[in-house]
Amino acid sequence: MSKIILTVATTGAWISKEANPHVPITPEEIAEEVYACWKAGASMAHIHVRDNEGKAAMDFDNFEKTVKMVRERCDIVINLTTSGGLGLKEEDRIKPFFELRPEVASYDAGSMNWGHNDVFLNSPNFLEKLGKTMQECNVKPELEIFDSGMVYNTLYYLEKDILPNPPHYQFVLGVPGGMSATVENLVFLKSLIPSNATWSAFGIGRMHLPIMYAALALGGHIRVGMEDNIYYTKGVLAESNVDFVKRAVRIINEFNSEVASPDEARQILGLSK
Ligand code: ZN
Repeated sequence: MSKIILTVATTGAWISKEANPHVPITPEEIAEEVYACWKAGASMAHIHVRDNEGKAAMDFDNFEKTVKMVRERCDIVINLTTSGGLGLKEEDRIKPFFELRPEVASYDAGSMNWGHNDVFLNSPNFLEKLGKTMQECNVKPELEIFDSGMVYNTLYYLEKDILPNPPHYQFVLGVPGGMSATVENLVFLKSLIPSNATWSAFGIGRMHLPIMYAALALGGHIRVGMEDNIYYTKGVLAESNVDFVKRAVRIINEFNSEVASPDEARQILGLSK
């Protein structure tokens, strides 16, 4: 059985200290948390930053500081967001990966209604530009899929060489406006992607654990962290992203598999650095 890439998403765009006082927000807090998660076994870090008020942002200075500090501390695979929130400027969404050259960056493969109150806009024009720029920069897109139509977008862009082959998918289940977090939906999404693809999945909130177990059973990789889920167990707030990483490592080991080291993750994803 091949090894499992364990991604940690420590921060995300939305979670405030009021919602969970342990969410890392500043570059220093994020870098320390990523380092602690790496020590606990995480292979990859999906990184968002905030502005200096803690709000969702594609703040280049804070990306630069965070990435530098993470790189000084450890060799975890760095995966930068290219959304950062809703309604942010396209050039601000591209600049961090363009300038900082992480090995991976997220690629949200379509537009959707978000949470019944907003729109997550990823226009065809933007997706073409994003795919081409990532290829120029040698940054591997992690194709974030919130709904099945987004898979078909990626198949079109793969055909057009706007996305590189083989693709890597991240199924994001349970965002209101997207597909709900059910095992049936995960099985269906997996059936749509090319046979040479690698993939990972997670469920939002209370569906975190069912989707993690289902992803492992279906041969996928997994993601944990406060971007997706702030409760360690029902009614109990997580005290650290490290707790999620440690639990996932235990689950992977009980599953008779092993977590991929960052270098093993690079091999699995075909990262050329
Ligand atoms: Zn994200």
